[in-house]
Parts: sequence; C-alpha cells; structure tokens
Amino acid sequence: MNTPMHPDAGLKARTFPMVIHNQPIETGHWRRVYDPADGDMIGLAPVGTQSELDQAVASAREAFKTWSMTPDEERRAACIRMSEALTAHADELALLLSQEQGKPMKGLNAEFELGGCAAWMGFAASLDLPVKTLQDDDTALVEQHHVPIGVIGSITPWNWPLMIAIWHIAPAIRAGNTVVIKPSPYTTLSTLRMVEILTHELPKGVLNVVADGDGIGPSMAAHEGIDKIMFTGSTETGKAIMKAAAPTLKKLTLEMGGNDAGIVLPDADPQAIAEGLFWGAFINNGQTCAALKRLYVHDDIYDAVCDALVATAKQVKMGPGRQEDSLLGPVQNAMQLEVVERLAEQARADGANILVGGARTETSGFFYPITLIADATEDMSCVMEEQFGPLLPIIRYSDVDDAVRQANALDVDLAASVWSSDLDAARAVAQRLIAGTVYVNKHGEVAPHIPFGGSRWSSMGVEFGQEGLLACTNIKIYNIAK
Ligand code: NAD
Repeated sequence: MNTPMHPDAGLKARTFPMVIHNQPIETGHWRRVYDPADGDMIGLAPVGTQSELDQAVASAREAFKTWSMTPDEERRAACIRMSEALTAHADELALLLSQEQGKPMKGLNAEFELGGCAAWMGFAASLDLPVKTLQDDDTALVEQHHVPIGVIGSITPWNWPLMIAIWHIAPAIRAGNTVVIKPSPYTTLSTLRMVEILTHELPKGVLNVVADGDGIGPSMAAHEGIDKIMFTGSTETGKAIMKAAAPTLKKLTLEMGGNDAGIVLPDADPQAIAEGLFWGAFINNGQTCAALKRLYVHDDIYDAVCDALVATAKQVKMGPGRQEDSLLGPVQNAMQLEVVERLAEQARADGANILVGGARTETSGFFYPITLIADATEDMSCVMEEQFGPLLPIIRYSDVDDAVRQANALDVDLAASVWSSDLDAARAVAQRLIAGTVYVNKHGEVAPHIPFGGSRWSSMGVEFGQEGLLACTNIKIYNIAK
C-alpha cells in the first residue's frame, strides 16, 4: 500500500498516488482532505494536471489496441479477479470511504457500498456480448457484433463515489474499452486507492486515474483522445459536458439529478410503510440520486403518515461514521449543507410546518438533522429543487389526478413510487407517472441486472443490465457475400 507521508503535513497525513499505465504517479501538489464529521484532517489528495490527463489518455489509447482484441474469456476473468479484490479490500476501502465521505460503516452505508462494488463487478463478468445472425442464405452471411468503443472517460460524484465508479468501470472494461477516471474532488482518496487495487488485476493502461484539478473534468469532455464520457452528477454539469463534447462528437452516458416523487394513496397503512418511506428518502442522508425527494400524501391519512415518519426519524441515530451505532452521518460538504439550510429556511418563511429538525444542532462537522417539512406546496423551493440532503417536503393532496400532475411537473424523472395496499390501484397510478423506474411500496432499490436511468433531464442512456453493457459498445456488422 502506497501511503507516503507528505512533508507539508507534519500531520501524519496519508495520500495515494494517481495511477497511469499501472504506475503510481507522484505529484508536487496536494489538497488537504477533512473528515466531514469533525473537520479533522484525514489525508492529502493529489491535484491532477492537464499533463497527467494527457498521459493517462495516451496510456489508455495504447492499452486499447490489445485490450479490445483480448479474448472475451480473459476480460470476463479480469472482472472476476477485480470483484474478488474489492471483497478482499472491502474493510480498508470502507473505512477510508467513511472517513472521507462521512457515511457510517454500518447500515446502508460504507460496508454496503463496498458490497455493491463487488456485486456490480461480478455481474459484469456474467454478461455476454451477443452475436446475432441477421441473414444466412444463398447470397450472404450477415452478423451483428458488439465491439468496444475506445477510451472511456469516467467522471464521478461524491455521494456513492466507489459504487458509481464501478458502475462506469465494470461495463466499460468488460466490453473491451480502456478507462480514464476522474473522481469528485470531495472523494478523491478512496477512489485513488480503489483504482490502485484494481489495476493489479489488469494489464498496463487499461484503467488509469487522474485526481481532480483545475479544469480536468471539462478537459476530459473536450479531449480528442477520449471516445465516450460516462458521467454521473448534476444536470447542470451534464449539460456542460454535452456542450464541451460536441466538437469531438463523443458518445455520452449521462446520469444526472433527480427529484423523485412518491405518492401515498388513501388506502395505504401508515405504520406499515413508514420505514420504507423513511429509508427511501434518507438513505445516505438523502444524498442519493434516486432518493424520494417529494412525498405526496392523501388528505385522509396525511397526519398519520407524518406522525409515523416523525416516530421513525426519532429512532435513527445520526453521528460520526466511526461510531458503531450511527446509521446516518454528516452532510458530505459545506456547499451541500448550505443548500439544505437554505431550503429549510425558505420553507419555514413560506409557511411550511417543520415537524422535526430544521436547524443545526451540532457545532462541529457538517451535521444537519433529519428534517420533515409538512404542509409543503408545489411552488416551494424545497419541492421544486433537488435538496440532495436530509430534508423531505410532504405535500397534502385530495385528488390523485392532481398528485400525478404535480409528480410529473418537473423535468427530472429518475424514479417515482406509489404506496398502497391495493396493488392494482398502485399499478394504475404507476402507469401515469413519468419516470425511469416506478417502485410500488418501496423506493430507490437498484440492482446490477435491472436497467436504470430516466428519460428526461435525469439521464441520457441507461446503466446496468445487458443494456448498460451494450451502451459501452458500438454495433459492427459483418456482411459476407457467398
Ligand atoms: P457535480 O455535477 O457537481 O459533479 C460531478 C462530477 O463532475 C465531479 O467529478 C466534478 O468534478 C465534475 N465536474 C464538475 N463540473 C464539470 C464540468 N464542467 N465538466 C466536466 N466535469 C465536471 O455533482 P455532485 O455534486 O458531485 O453530485 C451530486 C449530483 O449528482 C446530484 O444532482 C445527484 O442527483 C447526481 N447523481 C446522479 C446519479 C444518477 O445515477 N443519475 C447518481 C448519483 C448522483
């Protein structure tokens, strides 16, 4: 493990190198990294430069020549080895992730995320690249194959940084592409270390990582040596990437912001659904693309659902990641904390009723309590904007048509959910919701074999499943005269 002490620190700081062509790349520039739970310095992140990006792209281009021609079974075996390596290093990576990202070890948090990394990587190994015979007669044999695209640039966010990195890396490499990944500046260390581990299972240059630095993301989008960008992050950044990628006509998979609606029908049982609603909204402190971010509850059971959610919220321990019983940690960074604070204050000023939370109680770290906002209305900023934090607006409705209209009113559509004791009634509402995934009596579950992505401003393309693998390929036809 490469953990040199940096002379600047005198602070026992760890750092991890960028990795290009399977070689550690030391740098002269570092940024301090702080634990969001208490502000303690936990390490030094290298700062990437354009020159390192160019080296990484050149390495990936060189490696593509052989990796793209490597027999399928060898690429499958590499994915199996990477999945095993993720499992073998899960404890170390989960701890680093917890310190850097803030999420606790237990619950649906750091250990869970590492489990997901191994699962998605293992699933990639199980997938086949289909070959279809389109014509086979006296005149011709015509076959459709899927071939790798080239160098894939992966740009990742800070909320589920390791799992999302694997969501890009696994299908890209399985299909025969090579990768340059740039992590979010907020979660550099854990990504660097994970990539360092994965490169031990791969030929030189198949996977390279460049730490964030001034303009590295935009440079990737514009880079002539990158053939496709796989991006996960905000809708605004997705649009910027699309614009920057236009001159080189890059292929794009963009997984962007969400503002998922949930509709609770009048026949739902408030006690039975409270826990599902709570974790649908507050998994990873609400910092999840497909978390429940607007809850529409029928007037008949509005108060009962609010009471059940308040009771659930009071039982959940929020605390530093290293405390065994913490199930929720701090907000990851000051920028996101400001968004959450602003939305809560605005909701209060607009006349909403804050049932629980609504103001910071901790004096250190980026903690913000679970905040349930009752009597929210469709014109409030906490309903219209993605909060991406521990805050949930609860909107009262009496006409299900109106709830569906409000749920569909925004441009984002990753997922939605319907909550009811009557599955036929729930399905009828589900049919009318515009969303990539509509859940019934749950929210936010993702799995390697189920395609995931929205259709409007939340996504361009899908990830996961066979469709996600094929998104890392071009179609190639062999048309052979007989
Ligand atoms: P962000 O858009 O600020 O940053 C994401 C990544 O893009 C980072 O690595 C960042 O450095 C990079 N970046 C920033 N500007 C860039 C530019 N102009 N060109 C290229 N790269 C650039 O997002 P974030 O704050 O890290 O993540 C939160 C957002 O991500 C939320 O909106 C959330 O909904 C979304 N998200 C979506 C999914 C999904 O699957 N749809 C999953 C997780 C998060």
